[in-house]
Amino acid sequence: MLSSSSLPCRTPSLLPNPNPNPNPNPNRSLLLLRPHGRCCRRGAPPVLAMDAAQPFDFESRASDLLERQSKLKIAIVGFGNFGQFLARTFARQGHTLLAHSRSDHSAAAASVGAAFFRDPHDLCECHPDVVLLATSILSAERVLRSLPLQRLRRSTLFVDVLSVKEFPKNLFLQLLPPHFDILCTHPMFGPESAKDGWAGLPFVYDKVRLADADDRLDRCANFLDIFSREGCRMVEMPCGEHDEIAAESQFLTHTVGRVVAKLDLKPTPINTKGYEMLLKLVENTCSDSFDLYNGLFMYNKNSTELLERLDVAFDSLKKELFGRLHDRLRKQLFESSQSLTGS
Ligand code: NAP
Repeated sequence: MLSSSSLPCRTPSLLPNPNPNPNPNPNRSLLLLRPHGRCCRRGAPPVLAMDAAQPFDFESRASDLLERQSKLKIAIVGFGNFGQFLARTFARQGHTLLAHSRSDHSAAAASVGAAFFRDPHDLCECHPDVVLLATSILSAERVLRSLPLQRLRRSTLFVDVLSVKEFPKNLFLQLLPPHFDILCTHPMFGPESAKDGWAGLPFVYDKVRLADADDRLDRCANFLDIFSREGCRMVEMPCGEHDEIAAESQFLTHTVGRVVAKLDLKPTPINTKGYEMLLKLVENTCSDSFDLYNGLFMYNKNSTELLERLDVAFDSLKKELFGRLHDRLRKQLFESSQSLTGS
């Protein structure tokens, strides 16, 4: 057996290839570069260092190819605050972006390298892999109905990012022909709460309808991968369960933020940490449109109950405070009347 020292020249040797990845040329897999020079395998023509580097080059080319195959053509429908926020990350990850919206957002689209289409027919004729509905909850049905679905590829993946989930799920199932795939998602963060990145933030999704074909499952996985790459906490959850939990968490948070906003609070020279959190809450919730908040109420059946519970809770707290006050006053009243009568 040849040892590396018995080889006629000092450079490439017949060492086993430590690279576990498949190689298209098995002869070359035996060649390992030494720090300097050229050649060699006994009886074989000299091998240039460039050739010897092939396995590594192949590896990088294979990973480039894989990377390119995972890139999606994503059409964002509803290119407002949140659509643009998502687009910045999609663009940074190298996906091809198309955008369509009621208003002209062509300058914002151009700034992230997205093509903007005023006419949804032109958008659909570009045959995106993914149509991402990022319009307001209130306008979602009208916008979806306005899309010329017949111009899309029959295998298109529809995704929504609406902050309620049962509603778009039912909308998609009702309005989209059965050959389209459906993924309902809710990134539980926004431009304000995630301005420093998405790491650790929850991303909820429900694979509502996916054709059982490798390329379609891969495409859905590639879309979800956009969020896992950013470090999101991926939570697979049925839409109904999302809405139950979101009423108690998200809708409650937005309601408290908006109630406090009505008090028009200002920072003071003696802010406590708690007060600062309240001011921050107002900023976080009121930076979203009122349409968004209204949508959380109108299109989540659990929100009405939450609002009633909040009302009851506020009343009961007031009763407790006023009850104690009355007890104290009554006691004082009796004590003073007793001292007056001398009894
Ligand atoms: P939004 O007020 O909920 O929606 C604004 C978007 O809806 C814009 O693209 C706007 O289009 C479009 N729109 C509104 N009314 C319309 C109508 N009558 N016809 C057609 N389009 C209409 O604010 P957003 O923050 O951008 O949210 C977009 C979606 O993302 C919502 O479904 C929301 O629930 C969801 N989401 C938002 C956040 C967040 O933090 N903001 C987080 C997670 C999910 P134009 O701009 O072209 O007028």
